[in-house]
Amino acid sequence: MTKIARVWKHETRNDTSELVIVDDQFVYRVEKTIASLPDDTPSLFPRWEEFAEQCSDLNRFERLPLNEIRFAPPIHSPEKIICIGRNYFEHAEEMGSTVGEIPVVFNKFPTAIIGPEQPIVLPPISNQVDYEGELVVVIGKSGQNISQDQALEHVFGFCCGHDVSARDWQKGKPGGQWLLGKTFDTFAPIGPFIATQDAVPNFGNLNIQTRINGEVMQDSNTDKLIFPVEYLVSHLSQFCTLRPGDLIFTGTPPGVGAARDPQVFLRPGDIVEIEIENLGVLRNPVAS
Ligand code: ZN
Repeated sequence: MTKIARVWKHETRNDTSELVIVDDQFVYRVEKTIASLPDDTPSLFPRWEEFAEQCSDLNRFERLPLNEIRFAPPIHSPEKIICIGRNYFEHAEEMGSTVGEIPVVFNKFPTAIIGPEQPIVLPPISNQVDYEGELVVVIGKSGQNISQDQALEHVFGFCCGHDVSARDWQKGKPGGQWLLGKTFDTFAPIGPFIATQDAVPNFGNLNIQTRINGEVMQDSNTDKLIFPVEYLVSHLSQFCTLRPGDLIFTGTPPGVGAARDPQVFLRPGDIVEIEIENLGVLRNPVAS
């Protein structure tokens, strides 16, 4: 039962990050003590049991108070970022869509990934950048044609994610430009940490909330997912091999800005917070 994260290097404040374990008060600098940890988080997953054993006594490690560190993205360059659309009934309804027999699937590029507190940058070619708070599945073990019964064996854990969405590109251009509208740089904030699956056994029943400048905009629960986690892992693995570190954004609940009257879009200076029960708060400022 563990929460792992990456923090920007404490001494140097440069662009490299180190792996840490997180509890409610501290981060534990495991990378300083355990030799030969990989530079990227997913490379740790195949040797997770050995690592967990090495971390069974956290007193071995230097610790820092949570308020002294800056979180980096817990995974900085996943091979795949797969996103699910229309996975909460009331969100499909508010967008004027119906729910199909299979989910809508799109993707983002790894260049969209940022960590907590890093700014979401509004692109000059969009005027309708919207928020979508989402539960994110982190794949732990490779697989293809995975059955729903075995799906959870391939899930490492979960984190908060923000599927930032330029509506004027997603819907307003010829053909509907889902990929471009969803994958501007900085449009995939994740974090602050990844909780292992056994730390959130109730991943199908977690409160999820999005706030802008403190005001609640989305307030729901993952028990309302139309296509649950096991289904999504199984379904997607029929098309492409899932690999350690791949991320699945599971879809957003109702309350997005485009569906409001008047519509609400992100503005420079806004603070967006995605909070999921047991998965912390993912907080990002918005910049132009
Ligand atoms: Zn979404």
